[in-house]
Amino acid sequence: MIDLAQGSIIASRGRWKPAVLDGRPSALVSCPRCGGFGSLVYYEIVADGTVRPSFVCPYAIKDGCSFNDEIRLVGWVDRPMGLAEP
Ligand SMILES: [Zn+2]
Repeated sequence: MIDLAQGSIIASRGRWKPAVLDGRPSALVSCPRCGGFGSLVYYEIVADGTVRPSFVCPYAIKDGCSFNDEIRLVGWVDRPMGLAEP
């Protein structure tokens, strides 16, 4: 399990930022290994921030990143901070 802090996904690897994706609260992340950007639109984020299933780096094929691990969004409280009720 890798903990991701909330922050700038551009500035740092292994960060997450809240985003509304496909009409529901979700997040964008930077891969903890390569820093590539990924979306969690196709993942489930449970109440404590754990992402299911394990996160596979979207750059696995193009750039050969092998990151594939469980991640947790530290600071996720059921919905991303700063987003209103839908
Ligand atoms: Zn990666």
